[in-house]
Amino acid sequence: MNEITRSLRGNSNAARDIAAHLHPYTNLKKHESEGPLTIVRGKGVYVTDDDGKEYIEGLAGLWSAALGFDNERLARVAYEQMRQLPFYHSFNHRSHEPAINLAEKLLAMAPVPMSKVFFANSGSEANDTVVKMVWYMNNALGRPAKKKIISRIKGYHGVTVAAASLTGLPANHRSFDLPIANILHTSCPHHYRFAQDGETEEQFATRCAEELEQLILKEGPDTVAAMFCEPVLGAGGVIVPPRTYYAKIQAVLKKYDVLFVADEVICGFGRTGNVWGCQTLGIEPDILSCAKALSASFLPISAVMVNERVYQALKTESDKIGTFGHGFTYSGHPVAAAVALETQKIYDEMDLFGHARRMSEPFQRHLKALADHPLVGEAMGVGMVGAVELVGDKKTKAVIEPVTSAGATVARHAQERGLIVRNMGDRIAICPPLIIQPAEIDELFSRLRAALDAGAEELRAAGKF
Ligand code: PMP
Repeated sequence: MNEITRSLRGNSNAARDIAAHLHPYTNLKKHESEGPLTIVRGKGVYVTDDDGKEYIEGLAGLWSAALGFDNERLARVAYEQMRQLPFYHSFNHRSHEPAINLAEKLLAMAPVPMSKVFFANSGSEANDTVVKMVWYMNNALGRPAKKKIISRIKGYHGVTVAAASLTGLPANHRSFDLPIANILHTSCPHHYRFAQDGETEEQFATRCAEELEQLILKEGPDTVAAMFCEPVLGAGGVIVPPRTYYAKIQAVLKKYDVLFVADEVICGFGRTGNVWGCQTLGIEPDILSCAKALSASFLPISAVMVNERVYQALKTESDKIGTFGHGFTYSGHPVAAAVALETQKIYDEMDLFGHARRMSEPFQRHLKALADHPLVGEAMGVGMVGAVELVGDKKTKAVIEPVTSAGATVARHAQERGLIVRNMGDRIAICPPLIIQPAEIDELFSRLRAALDAGAEELRAAGKF
């Protein structure tokens, strides 16, 4: 143990954390007895805790640290931008070069022609911004009743009031008095869980689209404004929708003039094997939100891209009112924008998206091989993201009671073996930094398999499996 480790221990990070820090997405009571895993540094795909133990970060932090956990160039760009212009805003016709450069870069990368870029600080803020833009737009177009927004059960769009309402997960609604009015949830396109007996992927996709159409008709097409979709559902359990799903969904939305909002917060910037999840899944969005890997998570920044039709409506309404009355102090913060632009330059120079596409072959091969494991009901993924679903019985797909206990058990065993993964209920998500190398992929999956073996043994001993 070196000096630093000793002093951190003596200082007891865990005790101080428990005393002072209210954690997001944490069982607050359990935290008081278990304390945190405190990470002190990172290098490549590895992070190190305050005991000096090293882990492969199998979720890239929060699906986001595409370049891993160190990068001198980004550190230098942040430092230089802080020295030149640490802050300026973009309200009231003000601008600065980092925001202009980044907006241009994003428009050049967009999966379909986009007109303008709006900046925020997080995925949630970006999605709340979109909700407000959609309402504002339909007021401009003289259709004040067309305001309802559809998202999907198990979709994840963030935690601010509108974004949490869009999120289709019970923990984001229960006891928070959400969702707000005018938010509708449609079917989750998860074939493994929700297909009826014998239904093919195509038939299931057709049914999802029919259910969407029925929802729109029931509510009245004149009241439905937009639908939010993550191309691949992330925090809901890494769900890749079935073949033909998006073609059918988009046909329904077009028919009723409902905007398609692509939430690319996880999928964007190479995660699914293309720059955008939209390209992998065949989506042509009207509005696109992105964050996370936009800056490789070195600083908080998010963006919303809107097409020309949306922009023209926003422009008209803002002129009528006198201003587009929305924006954050830190919209397009110059340091975050400079770091994001440099991140994109690094991606281009190292052909990170090409690398991710190449790595997706061994990644998906290892992932799909886990389907053989006695505890695994489904192994699903695309590109460099995937999940395994743990079940008590492969045939009946019965969950191990209580729900989430199997996921938590395997995640704990993974952590003991130097692998950080996330269990969303009983689905274990894997989403490593995109810089990961083949030997590291081998190591990640060897640790995960060992964790599944240990988890199965523990659950068997407890008579649950
Ligand atoms: N959308 C998606 C698809 C996400 O995965 C997330 C975060 N996991 C968000 C939105 C919200 O982003 P943030 O946590 O930055 O608010």
